[in-house]
Amino acid sequence: MKAVIIGGGIAGTVAAIALHKAGIDAVVHEAYPTGADDAGAFFTIMHNGMNALAAVGLDQVVAEHSYPARGVRLLTGAGREVSAQTYSQGPRTLRRAALYQVLHAEAAKRGIRVEHNKRLVAATEQDGVVATFADGSTAEGDVLIAADGTHSTARAIINPGAPRARYTGLNVVYGYAPAREGEEPNTYTFVHGARAAFGYIGVPHGQTWWFSRLPGPELDLTGMTPQQWKDHASAYFADDDFPAVEIIQSTDGEVIGSNVYDIPTTPNWHTERMVLAGDAAHAASPAAGQGASMALEDAVTLAKCLRDLPPDKGFPVYERLRRDRVERLVANSAARDATRTGGAPQPPMSEAELAEVTRRRQAYQAWLYEHHIDWAETVS
Ligand SMILES: Cc1cc2nc3c(=O)[nH]c(=O)nc-3n(C[C@H](O)[C@H](O)[C@H](O)COP(=O)(O)OP(=O)(O)OC[C@H]3O[C@@H](n4cnc5c(N)ncnc54)[C@H](O)[C@@H]3O)c2cc1C
Repeated sequence: MKAVIIGGGIAGTVAAIALHKAGIDAVVHEAYPTGADDAGAFFTIMHNGMNALAAVGLDQVVAEHSYPARGVRLLTGAGREVSAQTYSQGPRTLRRAALYQVLHAEAAKRGIRVEHNKRLVAATEQDGVVATFADGSTAEGDVLIAADGTHSTARAIINPGAPRARYTGLNVVYGYAPAREGEEPNTYTFVHGARAAFGYIGVPHGQTWWFSRLPGPELDLTGMTPQQWKDHASAYFADDDFPAVEIIQSTDGEVIGSNVYDIPTTPNWHTERMVLAGDAAHAASPAAGQGASMALEDAVTLAKCLRDLPPDKGFPVYERLRRDRVERLVANSAARDATRTGGAPQPPMSEAELAEVTRRRQAYQAWLYEHHIDWAETVS
């Protein structure tokens, strides 16, 4: 079997590596010259994402190119600690470009081709699939795996009339500031400010990586300068008794901003020979920090399904294994955006309310983080 993969991001590249492990040929087709589109932002791969990487032997190499996330502190805008959690091991923080580079290097080591400047514009299927790219070239195979991200072209081909990605009502701004004195590295601090959410992590080589989630209208991003992004983000934290503005304004390196979209549901994930994976099927807002991890779970699960079943049976099983989980995650992430940002300052919780919120959060996190993919187990 030969798979034509569209998108050399996380889901596409890991699907190719997992398929290779399953003895299936795959060629990745990426629209951009480098594959490091939106390279500036950083993210965390959570326990479940690292578990999916481990299933195909990629966890060690990703660990080598990333930082451990050892814990999370949650603060109010006044700087009061609401909760603190430590992770013995698991989540890893890294820049998006670093992850792309590691995955592409691993693909190359296995002899998997990643073709750049191949932007999918059309695809047809009959006895096999034919993908057509913007440069007029085509690629043929037995199946097409569409991992072309939130604004997927393939989704509309597989699923004409599917809803487009939805603007979540949030902009995000990310930046790389100097290290903060006395700050323990590798621990995330999240601040629920009066108007918006802010977070940062100190990384060992002397930087503070920060992000902010800002409620507001969809922005025209053309021509926004780093200083404009910094001023835009700073305005949201002016009333908080927490040094978010200081961290943002001290940034002399990259600042990256964007609008945030999600996809709560996609009616059909597949045809007979074409299938969606990652954000192309189900994008979540960054609140849950799970988009990359879910893309990894998809990629490995899909490869197992194609290893053990023919595509017409494997695709429905893949969808059944994945749909409920990812849709729950997307809904939960959207609900977090709605409750945590943009409203009036919240009154403090009673002890009983706090205990209940903590209990629910722990149950949800166990469901999320303890998801395990057993590569050796046969899909039936
Ligand atoms: C600002 C921001 C912060 C985030 N933070 C986190 C976080 O902390 N933790 C987390 O887990 N997730 C986070 N996410 C989400 C995470 O980045 C995505 O869920 C993840 O990248 C999805 O992987 P993917 O492979 O499906 O899509 P992508 O990684 O987006 O890859 C899609 C690829 O397809 C290519 N492509 C697009 N169109 C075409 C086409 N027509 N033809 C060929 N190729 C095409 C793109 O160039 C890209 O390389 C964040 C997202 C954003 C935007």
